[in-house]
Amino acid sequence: MEENSNFIKTIIKEDLESGKRNKVITRFPPEPNGYLHIGHAKSIIINFGLADEFNGTTNLRFDDTNPLKEDQEYVDSIKEDVKWLGYEWENLFYASNYFEEMYERAVLLIKKGKAYVDDLTQEQIREYRGTLTEPGKESPFRNRSIEENLNLFEQMRKGEFENGAKVLRAKIDMSSPNINLRDPVIYRVSHATHHNTGDTWCIYPMYAFAHPLEDAIEDVTHSLCTTEFEDQRPLYDWVVRECDMASTPQQIEFGRLNISNTVMSKRKLKQLVDEGFVDGWDDPRLPTISGLRRKGYTPEAIREFVIAAGVSKGSGTVDAQMLEHFVREDLKLKAPRTMGVLKPLKVVITNYPEDQVEWLDAEVNPENPEMGVRQIPFSREIYIEQEDFMEDPPKKYFRLFPGNEVRLKHAYFIKCEEFIKDEAGNVVELRCTYDPETKSGSGFTGRKVKGTLHWVDAKSALPAEFRLYEPLILESDEKNEEVIEGKTFLDYVNENSLEIVQGFIEPNMKDAKPQDKFQFFRHGYFNVDEKHTSKSKLVFNRSVSLKSSFKL
Ligand code: ATP
Ligand code: MG
Repeated sequence: MEENSNFIKTIIKEDLESGKRNKVITRFPPEPNGYLHIGHAKSIIINFGLADEFNGTTNLRFDDTNPLKEDQEYVDSIKEDVKWLGYEWENLFYASNYFEEMYERAVLLIKKGKAYVDDLTQEQIREYRGTLTEPGKESPFRNRSIEENLNLFEQMRKGEFENGAKVLRAKIDMSSPNINLRDPVIYRVSHATHHNTGDTWCIYPMYAFAHPLEDAIEDVTHSLCTTEFEDQRPLYDWVVRECDMASTPQQIEFGRLNISNTVMSKRKLKQLVDEGFVDGWDDPRLPTISGLRRKGYTPEAIREFVIAAGVSKGSGTVDAQMLEHFVREDLKLKAPRTMGVLKPLKVVITNYPEDQVEWLDAEVNPENPEMGVRQIPFSREIYIEQEDFMEDPPKKYFRLFPGNEVRLKHAYFIKCEEFIKDEAGNVVELRCTYDPETKSGSGFTGRKVKGTLHWVDAKSALPAEFRLYEPLILESDEKNEEVIEGKTFLDYVNENSLEIVQGFIEPNMKDAKPQDKFQFFRHGYFNVDEKHTSKSKLVFNRSVSLKSSFKL
């Protein structure tokens, strides 16, 4: 985050200068209950970036205290995504490895008279909790003796109670203006197999209790999280203090990243995956890190975007076009230029010698001359885009129509002499003539044409599939976040978010492999897809089109 200052950086700097801290340790603590999304990238970039800047370290910690939703597949994907974003963790930790210590700290609370076993149901607990304007009511079990609480808690651990029959609650203050302090539940019974600890435990700590302990155990100095945890900070500090933790991490909250036309919560993303709206967590239409990777976004673009979006307490919605802007910026100098025809129309150049093939020179990237020159074959039959011919064009249409002349990129001027239709009336072939004087690079200045078309040589072109994406969610994010008029975000899923077309590419692309990125003339930036590309056909995902109305 070296580019900008922000309030978290200021706090850390002051902590180091005042001697409150002599080191910086941060952590990125995902729950392995889904794939990471670009919101998590913000948290990763902030945590790792700040630690780097102050010569500190960052741990990757799986916050795996909820056995029902967690899975090894998610653990693996999270590790891969953090690495792909370019970060190395100092230590890899699992919160579940601290279950024994957490249990002991809970016993300590009981012994101090600061926790009790409660028999109220979940619903009753909610009722007793009161509201923002009304104080809560004490549970009839609140004043059990320390002895009794110790016994009951041990029985909970031994599996003597059903799910939900008993909970352990912190004994704080049922009339606190902060509802989080009204005796929060800190342990629950859940007879479930855990991905890491198996059947060792049938009681599990709640997030609000577990998280501060995890931070303190790891000696984290600055525990950075999103603003929905702001009201939990007093509880966080209470847990650290009352559990006699040697280390005192400080929780600091920043605003969540939201992006327009995007849902950004693992729960919703999982729903889109499970209900078949998309083709897996790495579908290029999802804002998951793996989806963006398949779409052709780069770690550099994601990082630049996150930094530009800024670190503050507020959590506005950022326009998706801003992210696209950084993708273009990053690929501009890196991606080779090439030509691909997405919806082919055959053109026969009638005055071009049969059996002749010319190899034309073309710069690989005019914006980055170091990338050299490629050769493109040209012969009597080529493909152009269907949309580049009109029988009866409107004014200002500068592409091909009967009698009109255009430039073929890197090649010659051609003029449309004739067109052929099939029985259904579709134009299926053009007959053109070319002017040998007009060869690209020859310095020809005889006359000018207004249109420049891309093309590929018909005989040598390789077949290719192009996948073009539109936003998956049609309405603005605010609307998606809530159920409005009985609708959920699923009602705003765009049915036309994916278009698949079959076309042709230059033969020099035959060795392209998954994750190679290209700029196709006029069509935008594309990434070779790892899932669908086969020996016989390259499949390209469009990362971004070329034009944008977005200005920083
Ligand atoms: P989700 O609601 O998508 O499941 P989460 O907050 O439950 O997200 P965690 O696995 O708990 O997901 O997240 C790990 C870290 O990433 C947390 O510190 C969380 O605050 C942060 N994080 C999650 N979503 C965002 C976001 N949109 N912007 C910034 N940080 C985020
Ligand atoms: Mg969560």
